Amino acid sequence: MEVFTQSLLDQALALGKLFTKDGKVADYIPELSMQNPHLLGLASYQDGRLLTAGHADIPFTIQSIIKVALYSIVLEHYSMDELRHYVGVQPSAKPFNSVIELELSNKNVPVNPFINAGAIVTVALIHRVYGDRSREVIADRLANLIGRKADYSEKVKASESATAYGNRTLIYLMLSCKILPADLPVEEILDIYFTSCSFLVTCRDLAHFSFVLSNEGKDEDDRPILSRVNAQILRSLMASCGTYDYSGEFALRVGLPAKSGVGGGILTASPDPFGLAVFGPALDKHGNSYAGVRMLEFLSQALNLSIY
Ligand code: GLU
Repeated sequence: MEVFTQSLLDQALALGKLFTKDGKVADYIPELSMQNPHLLGLASYQDGRLLTAGHADIPFTIQSIIKVALYSIVLEHYSMDELRHYVGVQPSAKPFNSVIELELSNKNVPVNPFINAGAIVTVALIHRVYGDRSREVIADRLANLIGRKADYSEKVKASESATAYGNRTLIYLMLSCKILPADLPVEEILDIYFTSCSFLVTCRDLAHFSFVLSNEGKDEDDRPILSRVNAQILRSLMASCGTYDYSGEFALRVGLPAKSGVGGGILTASPDPFGLAVFGPALDKHGNSYAGVRMLEFLSQALNLSIY
């Protein structure tokens, strides 16, 4: 494959800047509505070289991108057959917080681990294994994936927790249809979920995370962070479910497995060993960084990155 250059990243950034006005920052979590919609950054990691452009060092909350790390933990404790009883592996045609999708899905099982219902079940499964240690286990997994220990934003977490009517609806619905056990510590599970979504990361961090997924689970020092098989499972799910109900269009435009978050980050992955991530908090109507998708589309075409 071809090589990332500073000039290409700069060109992607210049193009992306034309589109920040076309997105809208998330406002259903009040604290996220304070973000500057014109922030924009990207980072690549290849052959031991990290390249950045724009606001690649500005921290933002990881939001749904953490769902990749959460699912990586349960993959180590449950077989795929066991997991299917709690969370599926099918793309979703509905928004990430949809209640109706959960009501209509087979046996009320969330369709995949990257929508909110699926991620909440994933946290409950982590909690079943680790109990009180769950927060620490999740923080350690993220640290291994990004190459440093991340803090989380108390403000964003509190803001989400205070307004999480939708996520509370989802968890109680899953209790009522017995996907989750009646004795589940509901507020504790939600607290772990909100904390996880509030970790502060940068594009630079996500380029490392991306590299681990794309380098068969090993980091730049060749340390195994994920098994080769689990890295492949995560890439497959990112390809089919990672950009919400935009995943089909994203496959055409960019052609890389990816996971986006409403904080504005997009983490990509590839079968080739490079890392690539973008950040821009102004989102499309599905929840993906609007300018971020355009920057990735540009780079995918310039470097022939599509896996399809
Ligand atoms: N914490 C967010 C929520 O639960 C994550 C959503 C996202 O990034 O897609 O609504």
